[in-house]
Amino acid sequence: MTKRVYNFSAGPSTLPVSVLENIASQMLNYHDSGMSVMEMSHRSSSYLEIFNETKAMLKKVMNIPDDYQILFIQGGATQQFSTIPLNLMKNGKADYIVTGSFSKKAAQEAQKFGDVHIAYDGSDQDFKHIPTQDELNIREDASYVHLCSNNTIYGTEWKYVPDTHGIPIVADMSSNILSKPINVSDYGMIYAGAQKNMGIAGLGVVIVREDLIQEHQEKIPVLIEYDTLSKNDSMYNTPPTFSIYVLGEVLKWIDSLGGLEVMQKRNEEKAKLLYDYLDQSDFYKAHSYPENRSMMNVTFTCPSQELDAKFVKESVEAGMTNLKGHRSVGGIRASIYNAMEKEGVETLVAFMKKFEEENR
Ligand code: PLP
Repeated sequence: MTKRVYNFSAGPSTLPVSVLENIASQMLNYHDSGMSVMEMSHRSSSYLEIFNETKAMLKKVMNIPDDYQILFIQGGATQQFSTIPLNLMKNGKADYIVTGSFSKKAAQEAQKFGDVHIAYDGSDQDFKHIPTQDELNIREDASYVHLCSNNTIYGTEWKYVPDTHGIPIVADMSSNILSKPINVSDYGMIYAGAQKNMGIAGLGVVIVREDLIQEHQEKIPVLIEYDTLSKNDSMYNTPPTFSIYVLGEVLKWIDSLGGLEVMQKRNEEKAKLLYDYLDQSDFYKAHSYPENRSMMNVTFTCPSQELDAKFVKESVEAGMTNLKGHRSVGGIRASIYNAMEKEGVETLVAFMKKFEEENR
């Protein structure tokens, strides 16, 4: 069997082995078409079958209501940071909840296009915290409220949907989409870069309530008009064909295991292994407050930066990779998305224990 490492990368991240094997087995000749999916015309019947099946699977797995459009867009989540205000900032005003680097970047980008109000800013608490309902200061006339449901860099996650008094919530779910069931109707729009729980880079997935995309700011580039993309079923131009195919394969894998309830259970179990170990240790220190901890990105530090570096170096020798924290915060980050098997987390916890004993 091919040797693989436990890859704790925050994204692009590890994929289920069975999905990779299935894709590899069809690489030269997909379902007797005589070609790879990469080589297919996006308008061919073979490809349209893949495309429609992927959309249908996403609708099924996430239980997406009929009044939502699913758009598959070239580019990742960052591209949506400007696309969103240009399409959804109807009255030139929007509110942003800043809980980490990506929500901050999204707000900064939106500021170029309209009146942006920061409804909460967690920077003075080192982004360890997700605001409670009482801490939010949302304007009554905002076109939408933007939040990031899981903060990949800091390792915090929203555990509730805030009450925005009927103002649509636009959520960047790049790093926790498909990790647990959610109620899509709680949101006006959900978006994600695919390269974590949805497969590979090159694809941005947008799930948007139809009534929100009927008009947009005048004179915006055609390829970022949600209504144009929607009217053309994401095929105004060539969509990222292979990334959409991989998403379909990942969705089939999730469905075969029992769907998002099962994903949640698996993810809770894995996260608990790590957090329980961190909580009983006086060597490691978890970054985020316990009530705000992410199930996907577990962030912590060793007693010194030298030990952080030693930890990362020795973890590679022990068959694990990408445990170095994001360059902006340092420390250690273990990203344990859907495809990370429990054995990977158990291996990491055993390594942490040994490292602690040897270095305390
Ligand atoms: N939002 C979140 C929560 C992310 O984790 C990331 C990337 O890691 C991004 C946005 C940026 O995504 P992309 O690289 O697809 O533009």
